[in-house]
Amino acid sequence: MTRKQRQVLLRIIVSAVFLIAAVLIDKSGKLEILSSVFYLTAYFIIGYDIIMKAASSLRHRRFIDENFLMSIASVGAVVLGEFFEGVAVMLFYQVGELFQSCAVAKSRKSIAALMNIRPDKARVIINGEEQTVSPEKVAVDDVILVGPGEKIPLDGVVLSGEACIDASPLTGESVPVSVKEGSEVAAGCICTDSLIKIRVTKSFAQSSVSKILELVENSMASKSKSERFITKFARYYTPIVVIAAILLAAVPQLFISAGRMEWVRRALIFLVISCPCALVISVPLSFFGGIGSASRRGILVKGSNYLEALAKCDTVVFDKTGTLTKGSFTVTGVYPEKMDERILVAVCAAAEQHSNHPIAKTVVAASGDDYKRFRVSNLREVSGKGSIAVVEKWEVAVGNAALMEEVGVSCTVSNGADTVVHIAVNGEYEGYITVADTIKENAEKAVLSLKEAEIENIVMLTGDKQEVAERVASALHIEKAYHELLPADKVEILEGIISSSEGKVIFAGDGINDAPVLTRADVGIAMGALGSDAAIEAADVVIADDDINKIPLAIKIARKTCDIATQNIVFALGIKALFLLLGAFGATGMAGAVFADVGVAIIAILNSMRTLKYKN
Ligand code: ADP
Ligand code: MG
Repeated sequence: MTRKQRQVLLRIIVSAVFLIAAVLIDKSGKLEILSSVFYLTAYFIIGYDIIMKAASSLRHRRFIDENFLMSIASVGAVVLGEFFEGVAVMLFYQVGELFQSCAVAKSRKSIAALMNIRPDKARVIINGEEQTVSPEKVAVDDVILVGPGEKIPLDGVVLSGEACIDASPLTGESVPVSVKEGSEVAAGCICTDSLIKIRVTKSFAQSSVSKILELVENSMASKSKSERFITKFARYYTPIVVIAAILLAAVPQLFISAGRMEWVRRALIFLVISCPCALVISVPLSFFGGIGSASRRGILVKGSNYLEALAKCDTVVFDKTGTLTKGSFTVTGVYPEKMDERILVAVCAAAEQHSNHPIAKTVVAASGDDYKRFRVSNLREVSGKGSIAVVEKWEVAVGNAALMEEVGVSCTVSNGADTVVHIAVNGEYEGYITVADTIKENAEKAVLSLKEAEIENIVMLTGDKQEVAERVASALHIEKAYHELLPADKVEILEGIISSSEGKVIFAGDGINDAPVLTRADVGIAMGALGSDAAIEAADVVIADDDINKIPLAIKIARKTCDIATQNIVFALGIKALFLLLGAFGATGMAGAVFADVGVAIIAILNSMRTLKYKN
């Protein structure tokens, strides 16, 4: 509990003691003045801040809020001589508020646990000496030390040492990975067992961890439909209720003579019950909890509107390479026309050296250092096709059949179910390299759990050729697969799917070549995004590692969150409607009304906190 919360608790206790004393004195029938003094003392101890807040919003002309409702209701009760009820209104209200602020603090904390990935210091080696500085001060290419149990402060490459790295703060994945010289490591992970030296490759602002933190911090800004509904609702609802209360106080007594004060009393009760706080607080809290619970599992949702869309999806569209497959290709064959094999691979690697595409990286790795002796200029990547460059004096084009067509070179080979990389030099066909990718071990399970979750449509898109597309799709029980697509074709197909499907459409990709599709989908999910900045920007949901099973998990968390939010709306509105009727007919007193109001709020808040604890 914070200091402020403890103060409120103290006031609640003191005020309750005065209230009980006042009731006892009242019962004895004597000392009427003393009991009134006790009632008023209890009232001011518990209610002074509410009345002051109501007065200040009155001055700013935002007069219809819950402080205002509580103030007129309780002041009204006191004026009517209903001392006990007046104090009870404030007391219950404060108990509810205290409870709420504790609940909100609790969900904040679980998000803060995620925020814990923010590294706070780095041990840099400057002129052979170790210095501890904040991670923002470290530059690219600086060398840092990370010891056992320490958090890795910046993205980088291991220079020396071997260690086990715990990536669970970022990904929720609990199995540690071992790293050695040359391995890439990401900031936010924890080095568990020994000292390693790291060369920094990205400044702190550019590192994935600060991008993720930014993303989570901003995620509360985009509101879901139900949250927007509640805000709008409160705006119209409160004035309507106040007008209804005034009418209730003034009109019936013209016809029914229950005594003037009785109708005013009923109007006040009506006001207390109508307070919309249960909704205003519990619905955003549900989404807050849902986002927090997802992020603890390495699923970062950029706003509650996306959580809502996830819950309503009926179609999942996958990109193939890097999403369903590992995206780490191996070279399976080199088939030159007349060049030497090694030279063919080296020329190919020279042209591909700056591409981020997994195929390009494979070819470059296969060439070793061979390609470095070539002078390369005019390098350009043709998205979804390959790369073109001038290597020494040769015009080199490396890529798929579509690229060969683009540069006017005919190629006929189509080597079974492996992906083919063709090479053309100076407008002549020079041969091809075959590469193969493996399907992720858990991809089949993910597709099956999507089907179990009643996702009707599962589709695969790929820029690869038909044979590869069919092999992967049939291994994963995906009925619909589109092949040989350029990034622009993918957008077009996705648009067709969106317009023909009833529910929302998810697109899951790895962010390489597919940023436009990620943006276009109702929910764009970027996988394994810890390396790719473009993906973090373009996607609506970011999955920190590349575990594809997080997609069905995200859908389940989203559905649960939305169910809970809906339960709260229905429950709170139902109880309110019931008590409003009871109040209007004089069947419930003021204390009952407050109790109903605070009770509903507490139950709704407890219910929304269930979103924090999603169990698989
Ligand atoms: P996917 O849709 O499966 O993710 P991409 O759109 O990334 O595939 O690429 C489609 C195809 O384009 C690849 O299968 C490959 O044949 C070719 N390609 C794209 N970029 C390159 C590159 N840099 N080098 C070689 N081939 C490439
Ligand atoms: Mg791709």
